[in-house]
Amino acid sequence: DNAQPKKPDWIRVKAPNSKGYRDTAKIMRDNNLVTVCEEAGCPNVGECWSQGHATMMIMGDICTRGCTFCNIATGRPDALDVFEPGRVAQAVEKLGLNHVVITSVDRDDIDDGGAEHFAQTIRAIRRKAPETTIEILTPDFIKSKPGSLEVVVEAKPDVFNHNLETVPGLYPEVRPGARYFHSLRLLQRVKELDPSMFTKSGIMVGLGEDKQAVHQVMDDMRAADIDFLTIGQYLQPTPKHHAVDRFVTPEEFASYEKAAYGKGFLMVSATPLTRSSYHAGDDFARLREA
Ligand code: SF4
Ligand code: SF4
Repeated sequence: DNAQPKKPDWIRVKAPNSKGYRDTAKIMRDNNLVTVCEEAGCPNVGECWSQGHATMMIMGDICTRGCTFCNIATGRPDALDVFEPGRVAQAVEKLGLNHVVITSVDRDDIDDGGAEHFAQTIRAIRRKAPETTIEILTPDFIKSKPGSLEVVVEAKPDVFNHNLETVPGLYPEVRPGARYFHSLRLLQRVKELDPSMFTKSGIMVGLGEDKQAVHQVMDDMRAADIDFLTIGQYLQPTPKHHAVDRFVTPEEFASYEKAAYGKGFLMVSATPLTRSSYHAGDDFARLREA
């Protein structure tokens, strides 16, 4: 049975059509950059891009994994583009951002999982746009050689984000190739390597998890010293992808947010349209002012 629950009216998105949106699109095109905003068909693209908030996706647009919620193509990726870090930095400078989020596909085909490429991208942004705070949203480096994570941490991003994506019970069907405890441990190691670095993670809800499992994930994250949390509604990118189990109500999101602050997270975003990179800069700026 493929019947999908009807989209509720709180999942409403504005069509992308402002000058800011077009300017952002042009900067991405001129620098030949891929964005997760477009690749994932993110519902917030109109709002984010009107403010120049584009999340660039490095290391190509083909992924070595095939998560069942994700719209990125699976296959054999191209070789890394050594000029990409420079182009990303140039785009960040042009966009004039206070905070930028950089993500990537998973690169199980490279021995360091793309760690050095991430580090070079961070360093290139620092040179071109020293005032911009940098958040990276990384793969899990599960098949990468020892020392790969350290290479990324040593480049000193301000925020190290890696998404758990879902509750452990749904990993086999949602995130094949990934391991829940590996991802948790990855974030804990970041904190051990550099206690001054903020760590962040997130999950989608509406994939079939129950509330108790969501609370358990929050507890596991806090046990791994994760600072920031995002929770958003899963939306099915195409009928071939994992089905939406249910649309979580705004009230239930609010209850997760309240519980999360109670558990000690420093910053929480839990709304239907929350994405890992949604308002990341505003939230981070507020935290730094506090
Ligand atoms: Fe892009 Fe993130 Fe905004 Fe979506 S929420 S449009 S992925 S920056
Ligand atoms: Fe998508 Fe990331 Fe999974 Fe690749 S690893 S399929 S980019 S969610």
